[in-house]
Amino acid sequence: MIRGYLKSSYIDYPGNISSVLFYGGCNFRCPFCHNRDIVSRQNCESIKLNEILSDLDKRKDFIDGVVITGGEPCMCQELESHISKIKDMGLRVKLDTNGSKPEVLKIILSKNDLDYIAMDIKGEYLRYNEIVDINIDTELIDNSIDLIKYSGVSHEFRTTIIKEFHNYESLKKICRRLGKGEKLVLQQYQYSDKQIKDIKYDTYSGEELNDFKLKLQDEFGLEIETRYRY
Ligand code: SF4
Repeated sequence: MIRGYLKSSYIDYPGNISSVLFYGGCNFRCPFCHNRDIVSRQNCESIKLNEILSDLDKRKDFIDGVVITGGEPCMCQELESHISKIKDMGLRVKLDTNGSKPEVLKIILSKNDLDYIAMDIKGEYLRYNEIVDINIDTELIDNSIDLIKYSGVSHEFRTTIIKEFHNYESLKKICRRLGKGEKLVLQQYQYSDKQIKDIKYDTYSGEELNDFKLKLQDEFGLEIETRYRY
């Protein structure tokens, strides 16, 4: 179910002007998540895809693509058909996912409709349950990483960096798992009053993130990008 529609964004799809669809519901409860209402499906109405498609049709010469985000879009039963309807309009599609539904990802990837995938890696596997605040089998995350790595679709992995959950050693584990040549985005955590839990976590400074970036690039041969928003 779509719970939010942003008509134009310059930052959600690298190198593209996009519209953004927010799918309600998520199976994670990351305490630092800024989309509390989307995740809980409260205080936001559902929006019909047909209404969005007709608006996209009017604006398709002014945007390059559509970002499908959430919540966790892979929880939506109609996701596959939504994506193909958007592709039929000649628009690019980027999918954001938390990687917990490899079985859904596999089906969507087999349709060859995606142009870009961004998958969150919340932290080192040993602390995943604590970070996402539910019990998750990290083998699901691991399977999604491989599906995306070998999909042939442009992609990035991203981690929102919080002092309580991440340090250089835990980032090394993520990089080691991803392997040389992969792209990892280190996103600087920022507090929001729309978080799932009202906790102001300590954040790393831009200098500290840049230091991580240089060291990780050097040691693991990944493309590391720092992003100062979340
Ligand atoms: S940050 Fe992403 S995965 Fe975590 S609760 Fe929010 S929408 Fe779900």
